[in-house]
Formats: sequence, C-alpha cells, structure tokens
Amino acid sequence: MNIADQWDILTRARRSVPVDVHQLTAALGVRLKTAFLAPNISGMLERVGEKFLITLNTGDSYTRQRFTLAHELGHYMLHRHLVGDGLDDDRAYRSTNVGKYHNTMIGPKEETEANKFAASLLMPSESVNREWAKPGSTPAQMASLFGVSEHAMSIRLGVPYEPA
Ligand SMILES: [Zn+2]
Repeated sequence: MNIADQWDILTRARRSVPVDVHQLTAALGVRLKTAFLAPNISGMLERVGEKFLITLNTGDSYTRQRFTLAHELGHYMLHRHLVGDGLDDDRAYRSTNVGKYHNTMIGPKEETEANKFAASLLMPSESVNREWAKPGSTPAQMASLFGVSEHAMSIRLGVPYEPA
C-alpha cells in the first residue's frame, strides 16, 4: 500500500465519531497488541520485517490507549524513516531509554508533531465544531463522545480544564 492510499484511508476514518482508531490501524496494515509494559511506558512502535507493530500498555485507561495509538500512528505516518528498529514513548510521550529501544532520532519536534497528529485524528475540527455548536454541549460530554480524556478535549476546545 502506498502512502497516498494510506492518507486516503486516514481521511475517511476521521469522518466518523468517534474515530475508530483500532480499525484504522488494521486498515493501514499496522499490527496492534496490548501488553503489560513498564509503568512509565505508554506505547511502542517497532519495525517487524516489512511491517510495523504498535504495542499499547494494558495498564493504561481506554482513552489513554486511544491517544497513545493515535500518537504512534503519527510517528508511523510522519516519521517512518526515523523509526529504525523501533521507539518507546514514555508517559509524557517522549522517546525514552527506559524501554526496549532508545531512539535518539525522535526528538521534541517529532513528539510535538505526533501529539498534534493524534489530537487532529481523534478530534477533527469539522466534527468537533459541529458537535460543540449543539446546545448543551459540555467538555465532559464531548470527551465521552469522541473517546478522549476530558483534559485532551478541553485543550482542543480551548476551555479551562476543571477536574471534577
Ligand atoms: Zn512519541
């Protein structure tokens, strides 16, 4: 599958609410599994032969796993040439040396790009704006609708985050 086909698949996936990021991963030809990773590791992206494998930390919440998956897909789509054998992301989404790999090609710039990719994938502006315009919308209800944390949704909406 070429990269243009992959961006088409991604564009189509962004139209549903919530975005089915697990189905998207399969459609892109990326393998996915969950495992008990070290508590400070949220995700891994590894090259396995010609393919890529993403591993999520079983111990993380559902919304966190979704965000991590979207972040790793960001590295896959944007930084495939820098991944080498693989990379680990710590809880702050920084390539770290405490996991299996220590990828120094992935720096703060790439992490910011992957975070923006993830936010844009899980909370596309078209559907966020449409839902937010509906009467009675709250950040909590929006977060639940899009399958993201209330914190992530508050940042996306540009409203203060007030934990209950
Ligand atoms: Zn990362």
